[in-house]
Amino acid sequence: MKVAKFGGSSLANAQQILKMVDIVKADPDRRIVVVSAPGKRFSDDIKVTDLLIALAEAVIAGQPYEDELAKVVGRYAEIQQELGLDASIVTEIEADLRDRVARRGDNDAQFMDAVKASGEDNNAKIVAQVFVNQGVPARYIDPKDAGMLLSDDFANAQVLDESFENLASLREEKDIGIFPGFFGYTKQGDVATFPRGGSDITGAIVAAAVKADMYENFTDVDSVFAADPRVLPDAPAIALLTYREMRELSYAGFGVFHDEAIVPAVQAKVPICIKNTNRPSAPGTLIVSDRKYEHGEVTGIASAEGFSAIYLSKYMMNREMGFGRRLLQILEEEQLSFEHAPSGIDNMSVILETAPFTPEKEQHVLNRIRTELGVDDATIEHGLALIMIVGEGMRYAVGLAAGACAALADAGVNIELINQGSSEISIMFGVKELDRKQAVQALGKALLKKNGN
Ligand code: ASP
Repeated sequence: MKVAKFGGSSLANAQQILKMVDIVKADPDRRIVVVSAPGKRFSDDIKVTDLLIALAEAVIAGQPYEDELAKVVGRYAEIQQELGLDASIVTEIEADLRDRVARRGDNDAQFMDAVKASGEDNNAKIVAQVFVNQGVPARYIDPKDAGMLLSDDFANAQVLDESFENLASLREEKDIGIFPGFFGYTKQGDVATFPRGGSDITGAIVAAAVKADMYENFTDVDSVFAADPRVLPDAPAIALLTYREMRELSYAGFGVFHDEAIVPAVQAKVPICIKNTNRPSAPGTLIVSDRKYEHGEVTGIASAEGFSAIYLSKYMMNREMGFGRRLLQILEEEQLSFEHAPSGIDNMSVILETAPFTPEKEQHVLNRIRTELGVDDATIEHGLALIMIVGEGMRYAVGLAAGACAALADAGVNIELINQGSSEISIMFGVKELDRKQAVQALGKALLKKNGN
C-alpha cells in the first residue's frame, strides 16, 4: 500500500489534477492521496494559500474583503469549469469560506488557520469528485472524523501521538481516500495548521499511521540532485539516499522538502519516494533507512548562507574546567541556539545563525563573554556559508578531506573552519558567503561521480 502526496504545483489547475488522477489510477497500491491547495500555475502566480492569508488578513484588519474572497473562489471556479464538474461544488466552497469568515472568534491566530486550511480541505473535495466522475471509487476524508489531532500551536501545530492510532484504520478503506494536507483539529475542535509547506507532514503522518509500504511525494522535479542545479548545472540525480543523508543535506539547504516534515515516516521506517507529477516515469529518488554504498563515495553537497562565528581565545583554556559550559550557558540565556562548536587548545569557535543578531545583541553577548569568561580575545564574524559534504560511503574513507581541501585551495577558496568527526557521514566546511558557489562547484567537480549513485 502506498500513500501518495501531491504538492500545490501538482494540483494547480485542471490539467495537473488530471495528471494526478492518471498517476493514481496507474498503480492500484496508491490507496490514499494527500493533497495540497492549488499552487502556482506560472512563476508569478499566487498560491491559493497566499490568497487565503490575504483574505484572513483583510478580515482581521476590518477592511473590505470581497475581492480577496472572489480571487479564491475564482481559482476553484476555473478548475471546476475546466474539469466539467457540477457548478454546485463552487457554490459550496464559497458558502464554506463565508461560513469560516462569519465564525471568526477573538483568537486571530486560530481564525487565520481556519481560513488557511480551507485551501486543502476544498481541494480534497474537488479531487474526490474528479475520481468519482471517472468511475473510480474515491472519497474525501475529513481529518476531524479520521482523528488527525494536533496541538493548539496555531500555524505551528504538532501532531498528537493518539492521531497515529486514530488514523490506522484508514488502511481498511475500500475506496481511494482523499485526505487534505496541512491541517488537523485540536482537542477543542478548532482547526490548526502545520507550518507552511505542511502537507508533507500530513503525508508522512498518514503513511506512518497506516504502515504504508511507501510514501510517495509527488512534486515538480525529477529527483533530488547531488548539488543545487542552479549552482552546479550538471549535478547528478540521486537515485537512493538514506534518511541520515537526507537529514544532513537538508540541514544545509537541500530544498526538496524540510527534513522535519518526514520525521513520522522516518520513525516508522516507511521508505519515501520523491517523484515528478509531470514525468511519473522518471524513477525519482528513494529514501530508505539503510542502503549499500561504495567506499569513498560522496552522495551530495549542500550549502547554506546566513551563519556567523564567535571566535574566542584564552591562554590555557584547555585546563579551565567548565569553560565550555559557561560559554554555552551565556548563549542559552541569550536565547541563541548554537549549531557547531569546533575548538582548539586555547581557542574555541561557535557557529550560530546570523538572523537573531542585532548590533546591540552582538555587543551585549561579546561583553558578557569578555567579562564573565575573562577571554584574551572575542570577535564575531558574519557572512559565513556552511558547506556539507555527505555520503554513507564516507565512513572511514581515507583521503576524502584531503581531496576536498585541495579542491578548495585550487579554487582559491579560503576555509574558515572545518568540522569533521561528530558525524561519520559528513564533513562541514565554513567559507565566506561570497565564496560559496565557487566552493560547491570545485567540490562537486572533485568529489561527485558523473552519474549519481
Ligand atoms: N498549501 C500550504 C502552503 O502553501 C501547505 C502545502 O502546500 O504543503 O504552505
